[in-house]
Amino acid sequence: MRIILLGPPGAGKGTQGERLVKKYNLPHISTGDIFRAAIKEGTELGMKAKEYMDKGELVPDELVVGIVKERLMQPDCQDGYLLDGFPRTVTQAEALSAALGELNTPLTGVVNVDVNQDELLDRLTGRRVCKSCGSTYHVKFNASKVRNVCDKCGGELYQRVDDTVETVKQRLEVYRNQTEPLIAYYENKGLLFTVDGSKDIDEVFKEVTAILDAKK
Ligand code: ADP
Ligand code: AMP
Repeated sequence: MRIILLGPPGAGKGTQGERLVKKYNLPHISTGDIFRAAIKEGTELGMKAKEYMDKGELVPDELVVGIVKERLMQPDCQDGYLLDGFPRTVTQAEALSAALGELNTPLTGVVNVDVNQDELLDRLTGRRVCKSCGSTYHVKFNASKVRNVCDKCGGELYQRVDDTVETVKQRLEVYRNQTEPLIAYYENKGLLFTVDGSKDIDEVFKEVTAILDAKK
């Protein structure tokens, strides 16, 4: 399966992605995670991406597209993958479509996780992420058993620098202007499936897996 998880920041793409890749045994390709790893390593890519990420802006298309294309050529992507946070612009979607056309590997579907704006602000400002394994928690909606400690690996939880109220507002605006048009883009291609992302985590997972099981 070649799946895209689409939706605004905070919709639950990472949370659902974590579970979906386990169930379907797919590589989880999150462009946000790729950039954060590059920042941690202090690479040139990381330094460039950080400039945009800290302001809540998108990293320029030409930087993102090359990285994803390279990633999709890796052997572990041969039998499918889950893309999370890519594409985020129509330019990126078109570049992806061209690359997949060349590889003769069409997309299975695009799952659009729909959540209203007010809830997104609460979700993002309360998000906590494990420094070691990257698992995602929420201080209220999905709290770890011990405060600031990851249930899965015992790692320390932290708050992303772009999860402050100011930056979140900017990211939601950027989503509306640059990413939301992808809903119509994929709908026109007959690839879009929308789920109600405001339900609880298990229910959203059930909805998504019902869609994907029917596509297998
Ligand atoms: P995204 O990857 O789309 O930005 P995340 O998966 O990181 O979103 O989720 C954002 C925050 O919302 C996290 O703190 C996560 O624990 C929480 N969350 C995810 N899904 C739900 C849900 N269905 N209900 C309540 N909170 C959720
Ligand atoms: P995310 O982890 O998906 O919330 O992404 C965090 C940040 O990384 C975004 O706010 C962007 O600055 C950057 N980013 C991630 N994916 C992309 C993408 N496909 N295109 C442009 N910027 C991206």
